[in-house]
Amino acid sequence: MPYAYEAPVSQTLFDRAAAVTPGGVNSPVRAFRAVGGTPRFMVSGSGPYLTDADGRDYVDLVCSWGPMILGHAHPAVIDAVQAAVARGTSFGTPGQGEVELAEEIVARVAPVEQVRLVSSGTEATMSAIRLARGFTGRAKVIKFAGCYHGHVDALLAAAGSGVATFGLPDTPGVTGAQAGETIVLPYNDLDAVRAAFAAHPGEIACVITEASPGNMGVVPPLPGFNQGLADLCRNNGALYISDEVMTGFRVSKAGWYGIDGVTPDLMTFGKVMGGGFPAAAFGGRADVMAHLAPAGPVYQAGTLSGNPVATAAGLAQLRLLDDAVYQRVDAVAGQVAELVGEALNKAGVPHRVQTAGNMFSVFFTERPVTNYDEARAQEAFRFTAFFHSMLAQGVYLPPSAFESWFVSASHDDAAIERIAAALPAAATAAAEATQ
Ligand code: PLP
Repeated sequence: MPYAYEAPVSQTLFDRAAAVTPGGVNSPVRAFRAVGGTPRFMVSGSGPYLTDADGRDYVDLVCSWGPMILGHAHPAVIDAVQAAVARGTSFGTPGQGEVELAEEIVARVAPVEQVRLVSSGTEATMSAIRLARGFTGRAKVIKFAGCYHGHVDALLAAAGSGVATFGLPDTPGVTGAQAGETIVLPYNDLDAVRAAFAAHPGEIACVITEASPGNMGVVPPLPGFNQGLADLCRNNGALYISDEVMTGFRVSKAGWYGIDGVTPDLMTFGKVMGGGFPAAAFGGRADVMAHLAPAGPVYQAGTLSGNPVATAAGLAQLRLLDDAVYQRVDAVAGQVAELVGEALNKAGVPHRVQTAGNMFSVFFTERPVTNYDEARAQEAFRFTAFFHSMLAQGVYLPPSAFESWFVSASHDDAAIERIAAALPAAATAAAEATQ
């Protein structure tokens, strides 16, 4: 098997996993299908490093796909979790931690007047869509090709293929009826949104968009795009839902909202706000949120929603995220992005490093990438070679060319030096890669 080097224990675990779990993983992208080889089974994390079951350590540029903004096993977060666990792990009643986490979110993100806690980003977007439909009494939803909002049935229409058309389900198991009310449009194309509103007057409940997309690689909104969406929604009686599951509390204290200041009606959060635990949320205008049960008729619930351990972890992490932390994360991201660009330039590899706040990713193309079709036009085979070279040198990148890279405040000079040392060989591997 290609790329099976130096990971015999991971390989054994992967074989065992494959016997009892479809594809050997509990979330598809972990399986390395896009890059080949054996996924590394991690046994521990500390600061910017992960250690795998074979005892090798890696500088982590995935950070659990975003949540670990302070690095792994941050002492204050671990202390808060241990204290919470000792008090009991789930009560099925309201608790103080939930109130404090909700207050923290409301205090940070001005458009969020009220918030409901859930356990995953998927639940957050699914519930926000239901609420938007319940509030407006309309059925249709606009989403953008290349934007991922979790594995919500209605939003799996063209979450991975980019044609401006009515949604055809991307996956067996999602029926035409579930995806049929979803209108999928090209990202960054306000004319397409305008045309959709004109074609379906009074039918569109909401527009949902990643505040700044990271699920087709990093493709920030063009200037005016998010404001244009907000305006079109307002003028047409639809709700504007900004999905900040990835960007929320990561790219600034108030997420992408803190950068572009465009006011959505509803927002969704996850990842960073859970401190590495399953905690997520959706929130926004109080008059809209008032339609949610038990205050209103739109049903939504969860046995483990607002779980005391998860809220303790999330609160501990959020409370540590001050200006200095964001400055550090921004500085690390800037440094790594620059090093990557330098190395690829030196090796003569056509590429673009695209950034959105402290999120960034590399596209193996010379053209600017503003939507999913352009993202897919890159030479992704170069990423495969680049990825495996970095992995072999102890740097763990997202195992796909279509993902954001994430850094943490714990990425120190030693971690950055390891990345810098690995990059020339990885860039050469990318240069020499053939399809
Ligand atoms: N929305 C966005 C923008 C995401 O990036 C993700 C996950 O990556 C989700 C929603 C779904 O979140 P979860 O994986 O917690 O269900």
